[in-house]
Amino acid sequence: MKSNSTLKPGSTIGIIGGGQLGRMLAIAARQMGYKTVVLDPDVNCPAGQVVDKQIVEPYGSRNASLELARLSDVITYEFENVDADSVAYASEIVNVYPSPDVLRTTQHRLREKNVLLKAGISVAQFREVRSIQELYAAGKDLSYPMVLKTATEGYDGKGQLIISNAEEIGQSYESLSSRGTDLIVEKFIPFKMEISAICARTSDGQTTTFPPSENIHRNHILDMSIVPPRLPKSLTDKARLLAENVAVKLDVVGLIAVEMFVTEEDELLVNELAPRPHNSGHYSMGGCDISQFEQLARVMVGLPISNPTLLCPTVMVNLLGEIWEDTDGEPDWAGALSFPGVNLHLYGKAEPRTGRKMGHINVVADTIEDAIYIANESRARAWRRSTP
Ligand code: AMP
Repeated sequence: MKSNSTLKPGSTIGIIGGGQLGRMLAIAARQMGYKTVVLDPDVNCPAGQVVDKQIVEPYGSRNASLELARLSDVITYEFENVDADSVAYASEIVNVYPSPDVLRTTQHRLREKNVLLKAGISVAQFREVRSIQELYAAGKDLSYPMVLKTATEGYDGKGQLIISNAEEIGQSYESLSSRGTDLIVEKFIPFKMEISAICARTSDGQTTTFPPSENIHRNHILDMSIVPPRLPKSLTDKARLLAENVAVKLDVVGLIAVEMFVTEEDELLVNELAPRPHNSGHYSMGGCDISQFEQLARVMVGLPISNPTLLCPTVMVNLLGEIWEDTDGEPDWAGALSFPGVNLHLYGKAEPRTGRKMGHINVVADTIEDAIYIANESRARAWRRSTP
């Protein structure tokens, strides 16, 4: 039954999606005395190992949503590509945070960009692409290079192509339009840095934002988060306020991760939103006095949120499947942990694959340079490699 009062420890948080984000949320919820139930079709999913109960059903199943709503006092989701109608169905029974409306907006790049524009928030110039003629017209309007993206189901660089000139339009259009989803094309932004900020907002409208992180991607996958970013404080303060503004304008209850480009002119352009914990916020587990997962659990059960403070310079590096592949499934964890200030987080995934996020390492140090150095060394040891 829907209720706006605080949920007592012992109540149950339902999570749609049993990946690493669901797992770390469940661990934080359990630490606070809450029960968790996860909906995931994979019996071996990372969250399944730590929750009180798993519903092993497809995400789009109405029966599964109903079962989750019946077992939960409040529900969230750990990724955007869930069926918004099933989430809306569950939300008729219990509160779902963030709301199905926020989910609908953020699971479609065009809807997301249009909502941001309407809210007065700067984004890279973009056009909707419904035909190859519109893509040629966008090329004239936006000039080259441009980035063509599928409006849905793209992540970690999948479903996007850079178009350098008009000759490349035919092939790019053919390759992405064949996926049968809406398309968007954006002006290519020669950014000097990518950063993100994660804002938490409660049902009565209180907001707090985690210190922004500088994000370095490799092969389109987040490789390293550096906190604080190597930017003037005035700019990171601006990023924090921008994330808060997004949370308010979209009426988010829960977490919203706001990914931004920092342009050469120090302008902030919002690239993408995620209405959930985010890989770039993993540093908060140890780097801050509250993690993004505990903050979300607090919002969900109606407990006060805390204003996250960075305890010291922190760096997070992802551990991808290739580390396992290159070490015959036996990374050198003793080597990785032989440095001060290093914490290992593994997600319990049985099958390593190239590019698959298997875990991460967080490093706290006195200076950002030390944290970066140790993070690289620690991961290289796990990989049994020399430092890159
Ligand atoms: P996205 O899936 O939109 O988060 O894009 C993945 C990555 O592609 C981003 O983190 C950027 O590194 C790059 N990218 C996406 N859009 C643009 C753009 N308009 N200009 C330059 N780089 C982009």
